[in-house]
Amino acid sequence: VTPPGGVDSAPKIRIYVEAPLAPGTTQPIAAAQAHYLIRVMRLKLGDGVRVFNGRDGEWLARIDQVGRRGALLAIVTLLRGQIAEAGPWLLFAPVKRLKLDLMVEKATELGVGVLQPVLTRRTVAQRLNPARLRAQTIEAAEQCGRLTLPEIRPAREFDGLLSDWPVDRTLFWGDESGDGRPAAAAFATAHRPGAAFLIGPEGGFEAGERDRLRRFAGAVAIDLGPRILRAETAALAALGLWQAVAGDWRRQ
Ligand code: SAM
Repeated sequence: VTPPGGVDSAPKIRIYVEAPLAPGTTQPIAAAQAHYLIRVMRLKLGDGVRVFNGRDGEWLARIDQVGRRGALLAIVTLLRGQIAEAGPWLLFAPVKRLKLDLMVEKATELGVGVLQPVLTRRTVAQRLNPARLRAQTIEAAEQCGRLTLPEIRPAREFDGLLSDWPVDRTLFWGDESGDGRPAAAAFATAHRPGAAFLIGPEGGFEAGERDRLRRFAGAVAIDLGPRILRAETAALAALGLWQAVAGDWRRQ
């Protein structure tokens, strides 16, 4: 069902909610989101917003009630049906907080499907805050138009990573030594359906880790050019290049 004036005339502001979405239902939203809609975006009773939950598509909703503790949205009509957004996986050694925020936000915009922290030998232990990471993905998904959030997996040790690696996914790992395959060529000739990018910590991979990656049949070392990139730059460069060469930028 299309709103009068078509989908493009629907409001631009989008918010993510957890609950199921169906026409004729109401959806309570918490104080922070209500604050954003009413105080920051200056919406009023009866104004429209777009709502999505990662499962039921994107809906036009109207602000039905506003109170001290939140607001109530009336779910009106479906704007976009749900689609699977099975983007590539990003495996990264946690970096410092602000860089991690940036990487998670940008990776979400670039269509990442899974975010997997990996603890390598040279990872300088960073305490990860899953709620904070999730908040970054929600904000990024709201603003970029995604219908899903990337899955944030718990951190795991590098050592166990290869033992249960899925056979249908190539593990492209960033090799700053220059010995890897040029990334664009490696992506263009990838023969497994799925892709994952493993980016090392600021200190790089240890010799033993590099050896294991080199010997692993499901992994391909990639070269992202002649300069040593910061981990977050390497992650975002790999994701953008993948989307352009083999991913969802090709359809546009
Ligand atoms: N310690 C390393 C050094 O100083 O030589 C640099 C590590 S770099 C900051 C962090 C990670 O980004 C690397 O482990 C690698 O996965 C990735 N990376 C950086 N530059 C790259 C490049 N030119 N090609 C491929 N991967 C790169």
